[in-house]
Amino acid sequence: MLKETDIQKKNRLDFSTGWSYDPAPESTDHIAIKERYGHFINGEFVEPAEGEYFATINPSTEEKLAEVAMGSQADVDAAVKAARKAYTKTWSKMSGRDRGRYIYRIARLIQERAREFAVIETMDGGKPIRESRDVDVPLAAAHFFYYAGWADKLQYAFPGRRPEGIGVAGQIIPWNFPLLMAAWKIAPALATGNCVVLKPAETTPLTCLKLAEIIRDAGLPAGVVNIVTGAGDTGAAIVNHDDVDKIAFTGSTAVGKIIQKSIAGTPKKLTLELGGKAANIIFEDAAIDQAVEGIINGIFFNQGHVCCAGSRLFVQESIADIVRDKLVDRIETLRVGDPLDKNTDIGAINSKEQLETINRYLEIGLNEGADIYQSKCDLPEKGYWCCPTLVANVSQSHRIVQEEVFGPVLTIQTFRTPEEVLEKANNTPYGLSGGVWTDKGSKIFNMTTGIRAGVLWANTFNKFDATSPFGGYKESGLGREGGLHGLIPYLNL
Ligand code: NAP
Ligand code: MG
Repeated sequence: MLKETDIQKKNRLDFSTGWSYDPAPESTDHIAIKERYGHFINGEFVEPAEGEYFATINPSTEEKLAEVAMGSQADVDAAVKAARKAYTKTWSKMSGRDRGRYIYRIARLIQERAREFAVIETMDGGKPIRESRDVDVPLAAAHFFYYAGWADKLQYAFPGRRPEGIGVAGQIIPWNFPLLMAAWKIAPALATGNCVVLKPAETTPLTCLKLAEIIRDAGLPAGVVNIVTGAGDTGAAIVNHDDVDKIAFTGSTAVGKIIQKSIAGTPKKLTLELGGKAANIIFEDAAIDQAVEGIINGIFFNQGHVCCAGSRLFVQESIADIVRDKLVDRIETLRVGDPLDKNTDIGAINSKEQLETINRYLEIGLNEGADIYQSKCDLPEKGYWCCPTLVANVSQSHRIVQEEVFGPVLTIQTFRTPEEVLEKANNTPYGLSGGVWTDKGSKIFNMTTGIRAGVLWANTFNKFDATSPFGGYKESGLGREGGLHGLIPYLNL
């Protein structure tokens, strides 16, 4: 065996004696955030009809970033009117090739301003810059590139049909991937010849408003894309508007049900991308270290504010102890803190309300008799934070196992046979995603055909691609976004 030299010994990193990274903050000097933003209606920023604004804050500092307009019925009316006019006068008459050119332009402008978008996404929502820079922004650009390519090829996507746009699409999105969700909604709608009224979430409107600047700069005809900011009532005004032809909603199952009820009996088309409680299953023959990394990414990516997060871990009994020990070790090395620091793994919880929800679930878990383990992380004084959390000694009937926590909280259960774990994995009202870790192709096949969920990963987790359809079964929603399937909800075929 090779002997370690004195120099090598001296240089060896000792993790036990407080070895740490230096701060590596991304600068914010280049960011221009206005004090106030109006709605983006008919190609320009306009003041809200009722003159009301609300603040959006940085959840890692609790500082106000900007004021944005509160959308009223009158604002939604104006946006829908602009979208209808753009649809009938220009957008539905334009060739697919020309529509595609505008969409490519949006994609390229996002790439050009990628750094600015990443920093603002992180400031407004609390997610680590590493993720907004490497995941949210590139994927948002990729969605526009991908759907730009379809704009002049719709007849090849649906041979023998005459694909036509529907009209005005009302789109409502959540706060966990603000720019990316806007891209998932706007790109396929434009490619298929529809016009859009979109409402971002209350806590994260800024990157959508920056996207509006890009849409204006790309020279899109006025009214093709309209962005109205506001709260739940603003969303409801879009849903209930008579001149909207289609609703695309991403958010909680509770609000999804309200929307489904309120448009029942109308001719409106509907897609719902709702909550999830994914099973991540690890068999004894899996590459364990690789699986542990996948489990960590599956639940702690974006603070666990991910609809398809692997929030229920199922470990085969024979390897339960070793996997648990490795997870405990690994979460101690996760760095929680300043989201703008490039070394941060887990940023701020998106809002005070969401932190309260997470803490309420942890209390419910404790009262149900669960063992709760949190890493010993130092938390900043201001802002909303939650250390990575493991929850053991739970069973199928525990609420913390059944309900979506939407935070960095992983429940751990064991199983003995594939049949048992399949039954447990499917024993949830949700059906959005799932993961399997094993060395055996046959097990991957049996599990992924048996789990009733829209998206399944094998020996990986949380991988997204614009070409791949995404969506749920059961209470996780209906319809698909992404890929060729993502065109269908926006077309009359
Ligand atoms: P949410 O409370 O349902 O809100 C989603 C959006 O709907 C927000 O813009 C919200 O406005 C608006 N809204 C609230 N009440 C409304 C109403 N009555 N009518 C119309 N719009 C209304 O969900 P969230 O807490 O923001 O997001 C988290 C949820 O989204 C989780 O359950 C997560 O699983 C799900 N999600 C699903 C997917 C997917 O693809 N399946 C992706 C991401 C997230 P305000 O912001 O003002 O409340
Ligand atoms: Mg905010």
